[in-house]
Amino acid sequence: MIVRKSPAEVEVMARAGRVVARLHEVVAEAVRPGISTLRLDEIAEREVRNHGAVPSFKGYRGFPATLCTSVNSEIVHGIPSADVVLRDGDLIKIDAGAIVDGYHGDSAVTWIVGDADPSVRDLVERTRAGLWAGLCEARPGNRLTDISAAVEARALPHGYGVVREYVGHGIGRALHEDPHVPNYGRAGRGPKLVPGLVLAVEPMFNLGTAETRVLDDDWTVVTADGALSAHWEHTVAITPDGPWVLTARCDEPAWPLREPSRIPGHAPPVDARGAR
Ligand code: MG
Ligand code: MG
Repeated sequence: MIVRKSPAEVEVMARAGRVVARLHEVVAEAVRPGISTLRLDEIAEREVRNHGAVPSFKGYRGFPATLCTSVNSEIVHGIPSADVVLRDGDLIKIDAGAIVDGYHGDSAVTWIVGDADPSVRDLVERTRAGLWAGLCEARPGNRLTDISAAVEARALPHGYGVVREYVGHGIGRALHEDPHVPNYGRAGRGPKLVPGLVLAVEPMFNLGTAETRVLDDDWTVVTADGALSAHWEHTVAITPDGPWVLTARCDEPAWPLREPSRIPGHAPPVDARGAR
């Protein structure tokens, strides 16, 4: 069941989104060679609680931490650990959620620790461009898979594996609500996008196969072939005036998305299939 939010509820979700945005800004400052993912988690939890908010993930189905920290071939749901120490050239994916007055915000970033090959930087930036291409479609009159197709169109020309087993989702009083938001598929299908719908859009692009497997900790999802993966996510509300990116950080546009030049990674849409 898809739950539409009132304008007042969206305002509360915007407050949750701002906590998540601030968390990412603070944690990003701490990402450097030599820091453990557990230390990043401590910084994140302190930041969330300083705002009077509650971490979304901690305790969610038994997950033990505020952040999911997934390094290199880990795609999502990695568990922070004192034993995982970042090194120059690592790709760290940080996923975080926060609850404010009962409503969740959810956002993920991919940072390169130090420097990396151009092919890795391209993967990261093109995944981010896929996210923003999807967010731009989150407007009234569109259908759900307009988001999906826009995201996928940013991966196909480059041969990236687009993860299918894990997708975006509705969000509100629950971290995961209907509908699923796939990062693949033909445009023009699924529910109509209407004001009050709030979605987490979260593409995961891999340098190799799209296939995944789960490690023995029953949480960490990795690429089946061990290739690198990138993941970006924002929570977006569909408003009468277009998308409102509730988790936008200070260097990103939040709302309204009317100036394409301000959108990270913006470029004319490319679709290898010529379908759009
Ligand atoms: Mg997330
Ligand atoms: Mg999510």
